[in-house]
Amino acid sequence: MGTLLAGVPGVPAGKIVILGSGVVGANAARIAVGLGARVFALDRSVDALRRIECEFGARVVTVYSSRDAIEQHVLSADLVIGAVLVPGAAAPRLVSRALLARMKRGAALVDGLPDARAYQDRPWYGWILIPHELSHQWFGDYVTTENWANTWLNEGFAEFMPGQYWRENLGRHAADDYYSDE
Ligand SMILES: [Zn+2]
Repeated sequence: MGTLLAGVPGVPAGKIVILGSGVVGANAARIAVGLGARVFALDRSVDALRRIECEFGARVVTVYSSRDAIEQHVLSADLVIGAVLVPGAAAPRLVSRALLARMKRGAALVDGLPDARAYQDRPWYGWILIPHELSHQWFGDYVTTENWANTWLNEGFAEFMPGQYWRENLGRHAADDYYSDE
């Protein structure tokens, strides 16, 4: 992946699009904002969008979700995070294979919710999986290794970063817990 999501002076920050602005989407938005990306949150619930606006103000652009809005934002995204939860149902497939194929070169899609029970059953998604995958985007895959033999560098970095996220959000002892559990 060739985009530095945080950007550097003179280079625009990457664009992260979050599909779904409920609990999982808000969690993803916190991480995305922390990375310094340009963040767009979509949802069909005006209440959910309002909660995002209250928490993040101008740091997250809220967008009412429609087929056209999804297409427009997915096509200009560097990273799309699927975070739609419909209780009791499989996560709706908002991004078709055809749309996926038209995404920007180097862009990625992370589905935060393979099915509706995933988040309830696996609270570590928000605390480990998403920061892990975002770290790949932010740095781990920006510096690309020459061959698979060295891919542990990418994974090592991505495994390291959730601990830093824990430290920022939960304090030093949480980071210690994270690193001693690995
Ligand atoms: Zn990884």
